[in-house]
Amino acid sequence: MLSQVSQPLLNGREKELLLDCIESGWISSDGPYVEKFENNFSNFIGTKYAVAVSNGTAALEAAVFGIEINPGDEVIMPSFTIISCAIAVLKFGAIPVFVDIEPLTWNIDVTQIESRITSKTKAIIAVHMYGHPCDMEPIMNLAAKHKLRVIEDSSQVHGATYKSINCGAIGHVSTFSFYANKIITTGEGGMVLTSDQTIADRAKSYRNLCFRGERRFFHTDLGNNLRMTNMQAAIGVAQLERLSEFVEAKREIGFYYLESLSKIDCIKTQVELPFAKMVFWMYCIEIDNRSGISADFMMSELKNNGIATRPFFIGMHEQPIIQSYGINPKPNAFQNTERASRQGLYLPSSVTLNKSEIDIVVECVSSIMKKNVRCLKHKP
Ligand SMILES: *Cc1c(COP(=O)(O)O)cnc(C)c1O
Repeated sequence: MLSQVSQPLLNGREKELLLDCIESGWISSDGPYVEKFENNFSNFIGTKYAVAVSNGTAALEAAVFGIEINPGDEVIMPSFTIISCAIAVLKFGAIPVFVDIEPLTWNIDVTQIESRITSKTKAIIAVHMYGHPCDMEPIMNLAAKHKLRVIEDSSQVHGATYKSINCGAIGHVSTFSFYANKIITTGEGGMVLTSDQTIADRAKSYRNLCFRGERRFFHTDLGNNLRMTNMQAAIGVAQLERLSEFVEAKREIGFYYLESLSKIDCIKTQVELPFAKMVFWMYCIEIDNRSGISADFMMSELKNNGIATRPFFIGMHEQPIIQSYGINPKPNAFQNTERASRQGLYLPSSVTLNKSEIDIVVECVSSIMKKNVRCLKHKP
């Protein structure tokens, strides 16, 4: 299936458990599957608490509320990410402070974080990008040194590990998305994980309108309705049963893609660093900008050949809505982000891809490059 970038695989117990919701009548957020999914997922990742929510953006919002971010606080995050990270911070009157990425994995450049820490900094959002973990040890060390909280946005790394620890179990709190193109899905859905009871309680309260425990319909905080339905959670329980299998399949496809793509001049792929077990959420390439080929050009050529792709993120520092908050970071500070956003794309990435389909994609990328680029690789 090359005409779609990513297709969910729902042929385990999804139908059976979903039918159980319908037959039992438990279709909203009450019902047994929400807690079951929370318990199973937090056990799998390795945290004490879990709060299932309606999507990954909501998970970030609940996590930011969980660690008590207040107006004027600063939160460090990569510029190269989804806007959900910035929204979650701006929502509470706090300020996102952006850092460039490093070019090998497209993750936040940890060597640039400390220079952005001020007396107002309260937290760091580490976004594990495209299936590859961030270098968490220096991030946690900086957090300890400056008394900061770390949120791991793990929406793209279900099952990935950093030094043998699951992504999502390293920071003070982590968030996941279960959107249809993520490694496991509930259609729409998300989760907040933490081993800190205060953070868990706050996130849980925020998810359901901050009702006070002692008296329903009495409030001392503004919450939100971010509840996950029992039906979504039922699908999540069934998907989680397949996670390890999906990860192994994605790694097999991923390394086959990498090996084949590495033979093409001017095409860079994500590199698995020694500390990481990556999960290839998407099969990503960055085209060398000296080739004169942009991601847009490559995507339209591939589309003409029936091959679906998606572009990379656009840096937060380049977003008009972010700039309208008066957040204008210094120019030239985001060269890796800017290059990745113009030169990067991802190729068909379904967990069901077979080798002959991958061969077709790689052959197509190769011939587009050959037709349009004067080779650079072997020049000094
Ligand atoms: C998908 C994603 C989100 C948002 O998740 P939704 O469920 O779509 O709201 C947040 N962060 C990252 C890194 C993502 O990839």
